[in-house]
Amino acid sequence: VATVYLGLGANLGDRSANLEAALERLAALARAELRLSSVYETPALLPEGAPESWNRPYWNLVAALEFEGSPAELLHATQRIEADLGRIRGERWAPRPIDLDLLHWEGVTLATPTLTLPHPGIRGRAFVLDPLAELAPGLRLPGGSGMPDGQMADEGASVLELARRHPKHQPRLMGILNVTPDSFSDGGKHAGLDAALAAVDAWSGPVAPILDVGGESTRPGAGAVSPDEEWARIRPLLEALRARFAGRRLRPRISVDTRRAEVAARALALGADWINDVSGGADPALLELVRAARCTYVVMHSLTVPADPRATLGRDHPPAAQLRRWFEAKLAELDRAGIARDRVVLDPGIGFGKTPFQSLEVLRDWERFLAPSLGVPVLAGHSRKSFLKDFSSAPAPSRDPETLGVSLALAAKGADLLRVHDPVLHHRALLAWSHVR
Ligand code: ATP
Ligand code: CA
Ligand code: CA
Repeated sequence: VATVYLGLGANLGDRSANLEAALERLAALARAELRLSSVYETPALLPEGAPESWNRPYWNLVAALEFEGSPAELLHATQRIEADLGRIRGERWAPRPIDLDLLHWEGVTLATPTLTLPHPGIRGRAFVLDPLAELAPGLRLPGGSGMPDGQMADEGASVLELARRHPKHQPRLMGILNVTPDSFSDGGKHAGLDAALAAVDAWSGPVAPILDVGGESTRPGAGAVSPDEEWARIRPLLEALRARFAGRRLRPRISVDTRRAEVAARALALGADWINDVSGGADPALLELVRAARCTYVVMHSLTVPADPRATLGRDHPPAAQLRRWFEAKLAELDRAGIARDRVVLDPGIGFGKTPFQSLEVLRDWERFLAPSLGVPVLAGHSRKSFLKDFSSAPAPSRDPETLGVSLALAAKGADLLRVHDPVLHHRALLAWSHVR
């Protein structure tokens, strides 16, 4: 049995339904559960002189499939699926209800008239690199696959590094679903279950592939909440999300923003995929749960929770350099606790233990977290935070223009993940931005 990475794309008809149908068929070919990336909405790749009407954005994702059989057999099977879903063999890169490309076959390089492995386009395509980097961040593609004009640069770069450097790289969005009556930035707007679920519908597909559900406000001065109270707030939403996405392959990952082991245990039992820990791994019981559950773990740097404006990093070294050292030590510590880096996400904790100016410096200096690569995605949580007050008089709920400006700058730097209050605004802006980059 070999692991094969397949690229899926759709830009005609109901893109969601086409991808779901193709995944259903691929699952039937696989020896194990498919592993899926997020969905990305991306500009169409067009040949010189293509009709303007072909410029229709794609939904793209990557699937990892355990396959027992030959490359020729799998190619044949995927072409059969394409035909069954209405693909008409037409001109190159014409709009299509589904395209299935064999991207990479573990241990195989091949160049026949009908099949090239790895797929020759990978390195040049953000719509392949971004989703592939989720499933195989450390993968180094054999050969100089896909470099234009015989360039041989990047020979030794991992897929994650290639994705970050691509001009059309798009960060994944984590949408914030606060079910707290006292949250700083949305005033508890999503506190009602119906409002939260309406947001989830608007954030479906490629908009917010991760939903971050939180029941404790960590803003400066927030009151303490008992674990039982925190659980009572988030439980109805977790149950509703579980029901809503039951049986769906294209579904968001559910992240739970908690630093309490009791809450995390109950959330994991209800199907949470990620634990987002603002305490930075302070509780060994939480780490033990994460280890056993094999979930994704976001570990955020903080000095105090809730944030205390008086406790900040020292001023003797650039804050991003201090945080990079903290990341390295934390990864080693988590590894010793049985949490390997393939499930860790790092978060420097904008606004937690940093002065407003230090938060800004961390964002400006973002490259320091990405290169040399730690092999781990790094998340930015700057949305609507108070450091923006240095140049904006807008109150927290109205700070999305400032947030978006920072987000686009971070996207250009290669940021992996953005945790934001308004994913629809971000998705629209990033799609336009990537059409022009
Ligand atoms: P691109 O291959 O640049 O993404 P495309 O997907 O639009 O373009 P198709 O019309 O789907 O191209 O495929 C053209 C041919 O490419 C197929 O008939 C297939 O035999 C061949 N091919 C070569 N290598 C691969 C591969 N790794 N995966 C899928 N098809 C491949
Ligand atoms: Ca293709
Ligand atoms: Ca193809």
